[in-house]
Amino acid sequence: MNKVKVLGIDFDNYSLSEFKNEFISRLNNHLSTMIVTANPEIVMAANQDHEFMEIIQRDADYVTADGIGIVLAGKMQNTPIAERVTGYDLFTWFLHVANLRGMKVYLIGAKPEVITATEARIAQDYPNIKVVGAQDGYFKDDLNTVAQKIELTKPDMVFAAIGFPRQEKLIAIMRRDNLPAMMMGVGGSFDVFSG
Ligand code: UDP
Repeated sequence: MNKVKVLGIDFDNYSLSEFKNEFISRLNNHLSTMIVTANPEIVMAANQDHEFMEIIQRDADYVTADGIGIVLAGKMQNTPIAERVTGYDLFTWFLHVANLRGMKVYLIGAKPEVITATEARIAQDYPNIKVVGAQDGYFKDDLNTVAQKIELTKPDMVFAAIGFPRQEKLIAIMRRDNLPAMMMGVGGSFDVFSG
C-alpha cells in the first residue's frame, strides 16, 4: 500500500494524474468510492473526534493531502507525499468527466442561492451532466434520511458541501450502503465555483 501517515492519517501517496487513473478505473467498474481531501483543519478535527477519524481511516477509499503543510510534514518525516491534491481541483475535473460521459450528479450543500447558481453554471458549462438532485445544506432532516433520498436518485457522483465532519459522515453512510457512486466532500467549493 502506498500510504504515508501524517498526524494519524494515512494519506494516499499518488500524484494528481495517478489519482485520476484510479478514479476513472473505479468509475468504469461502478465501484462505491469515498474520497476525503484532507486539509489541515480536517486533520486537526479528526484527531479530536474519534468517529471522524474512523471514517477517514476506515470508510474512505482515498485520502488526499489537501494542504501544502501536510506535504511538507511528509517530507520532514522522510516519507514524502507526491503532491497537494485539492477538493476543488478534483471537483471540477469530475464535472469534466461527468460531462463527457453524460453522468448523473447529485449536489448537496451551501446556501440556497449558491446551490442554485452552482446548478446554473453546470447547466451552462457542462450541458451533458444530468443533475439528479441539488439541495442546499441547511436542512433539518437527519443524515440517514438525506442519504436515502440521495440513493434513490441513483447518482454516478455525489458532491457534498455541508462542512466537515458532516459531509464525510453523510458520505460514509452511502459508502457503507455500497452506493455505486463517486462521492466526495467538497467544503466551500460550491461557493467558489458559483462566485
Ligand atoms: N454549509 C452548509 N450547511 C451548514 C454549514 C455549512 O451547507 O450547516 C456549507 C457552507 O455554506 C459552505 C460549505 O458548507 O458552502 C463549507 O462551509 P465552511 O467553510 O464553514 O466549511 P468547512 O471549512 O467547515 O468545510
